[in-house]
Formats: sequence, C-alpha cells, structure tokens
Amino acid sequence: MSRYWSDHVAGLAPYVAGEQPKVTKLLKLNTNEHPYGPSPLALRAIQAAATDQLRLYPDNQSTALRVAIASLHGLQPDQVFVGNGSDEVLAHVFNGLFRRAGRPLLMPDITYSFYKTYCKLFDVPAQLLPLADDYTLTVSDYTQERQTPVAGVIFANPNAPTGIAMSLEAIAQIASAHPDAPVVVDEAYVDFGADSATALLGRHDNIVVIHTLSKSRALAGLRVGYAMASKDIVAGLNRVKDSFNSYPLDALAQAGAMAAINDTAYFDQMRSAVIQAREALTQQLATLGFEVLPSRANFVFARHPDHEGATLQQALRAEGVLVRHFNIERVHQFLRITVGTPEQCERLCNTLAKILTNQH
Ligand code: PMP
Repeated sequence: MSRYWSDHVAGLAPYVAGEQPKVTKLLKLNTNEHPYGPSPLALRAIQAAATDQLRLYPDNQSTALRVAIASLHGLQPDQVFVGNGSDEVLAHVFNGLFRRAGRPLLMPDITYSFYKTYCKLFDVPAQLLPLADDYTLTVSDYTQERQTPVAGVIFANPNAPTGIAMSLEAIAQIASAHPDAPVVVDEAYVDFGADSATALLGRHDNIVVIHTLSKSRALAGLRVGYAMASKDIVAGLNRVKDSFNSYPLDALAQAGAMAAINDTAYFDQMRSAVIQAREALTQQLATLGFEVLPSRANFVFARHPDHEGATLQQALRAEGVLVRHFNIERVHQFLRITVGTPEQCERLCNTLAKILTNQH
C-alpha cells in the first residue's frame, strides 16, 4: 500500500468470504445460503415496489419494516435498528459501542471471523477465550471477575463455524456478569433450532441481539439485518448511523424484507425443510465416518479422522462441490458444509464417498 496509509489500515486483514462462483453448475455449499428461494410474497412485494416511486428517497427510518420486526419478536419498534445486512449492523455496533472503549472485547477464539476484522478496523483490543475441547463456550471464562473492566462481549449463537448453540440460561449469566457492558448475541442462524436471546431483553438491558434475513429468510442478496436491544442502545446506534448519513435500506429492500417477515407460513415450512435435511445430512456423514458436531444452524461442521480438511475441500472442488475450510489450527481437519436440498446433500455425500474410496 502507498505511503498515504497508516500502519493501522495497511495492517487490516479484510474478511475473506467463501467463493462466489460464476459457474452455476457448481454445487455451492460454502456460504450458508438457503437452498430454496425467498418467500414468493417477498418477490411480489419487491416487484410491486419497483414503480416510478423509486424516484423518491426511501423512508430513512424503515418505519413499516421496524414495526413488522418488532411485532414478530414482541418488542417496541424503537427497540429495532435495521441495516444493510447484519455485517453493517455489526459495524455500527462496533463503532458506537466498542470503539474508543480502550478495553478488551471478549469473544471465543473460534467464531465468526468478522469480529476480529472489526476489532482491527475500529481499534478494539480483542480478548480471545478458547472454546472447550468439545467446541462449546466455557461460560465461567466469561463470567469470572476480572481486574480490568471489559468493553463488552460478542459471540454468535449458534456459533459459527461450529453450529453449536448455547442455552439462554448461559447467555443470561454472561449478561448478568457484565451489567455495565454490552453483550452482543449474533443470532444469524438462530432460526434453525436455537433459542433466541430476544426472550432476555426485558430483563437485561445490556443485551444486543442481531438477526439477518440472509439465512432463514433466504434473502442474502437483498442485504437486510437488524439489531434488537433496549431503546437506549437503539437510540445510540441511530445516532452513530445518522452521523455517517448512511441510509438504512433502499425502498425495494424495505418492501421485500417486510413481506418476508410477515410470511410466517412459508418461513416455517422452509425452516423445517432445512432442519430435516440437516439431520439427514448429519446421519449420512456419520455413515461415511465423519464426526459431526451437533448443529443448530443451516450448516454442519464435520471432520474425517483419516483425511485433512483442506485435501477433502480441494477434492470436492475438483468435482464441482464447494464447501468451506478454515485454516485455523484447532479446526483445520473440519469442513463446514451448508445444508442443501436433499438432492444436493446426496450429491455431496456420493462425491465424498468416491473421494474417500479413491484416497485409501
Ligand atoms: N453473522 C454471522 C455469524 C454470519 O455467519 C454471517 C454471514 N456470513 C453474518 C453475521 C453476516 O450476514 P449478513 O451480512 O448477510 O446479514
């Protein structure tokens, strides 16, 4: 980088997302997208919003959408903050709540890698707490008394890339241990079988719950995410956002997101389909000799005792199947595999079976 950039920027490690291939023949099980399309009502709402009204600026408060989200979760609309995907919501959270705190942010050593990226970008010291041997969070690591206060806590529940979920009781314990610091629970995958910490918001005004429409609502391309918290925290996040003059959501995204949120019948049906496919995939992988961590997400994290994760990933890639591998020491043997349709899971397992036979 040129001399114009400080070491701070030159040293940033940008988030590396999974491959987004141009070739559609590839079976894409690498970035946890939904295997089925979004609600037809959402598509219709987007089409209906694509009129000459697009010459007008959108509602910069996303009022109708926030009302729909609040009603879904039994909250008040001013407890909801929306953004262009949960990654942008997280950016506002880091910028507003953690930046300049000058104190460490507690997080698991293995979790969504964007948290570390944002720590670098927003100059927040990360304090990484190792997952236990079974890849669960050790709650006492987060609740023990510390000599120096913390900026806050962040973790994903279910965690990524393990898929393991923690109980609401454990989350409440962590929140109680840090009454003066925000505890951010990233629930990108919660709809696939974990309990949502939104149930704790009434009792813990330091909890911030983050959701996305990219996974269980099959709208990754629309870019909609939101945070739910106390009115005070949401008001602060709005101040941060408005200081950047960043628009929350465009008019099409607002219309589509609202229709998707309201289409509970389609949501329930699709969610059950993915959960069923996940359980079947877990069984099939176990039959092939994989150890599969107990997932509450729309992906599984699995390792084969006799094969390197990177080797398997490359062999699958050569056969047109994309899965994710993380170059992290403790989990280098694992593959993270997005749950597809039953047919896609079958293709994955047949390909894996062939690879395992050939490599012996
Ligand atoms: N949190 C977690 C744990 C994720 O895995 C992802 C998706 N990569 C996100 C947040 C961001 O999702 P989006 O920006 O599409 O809402």
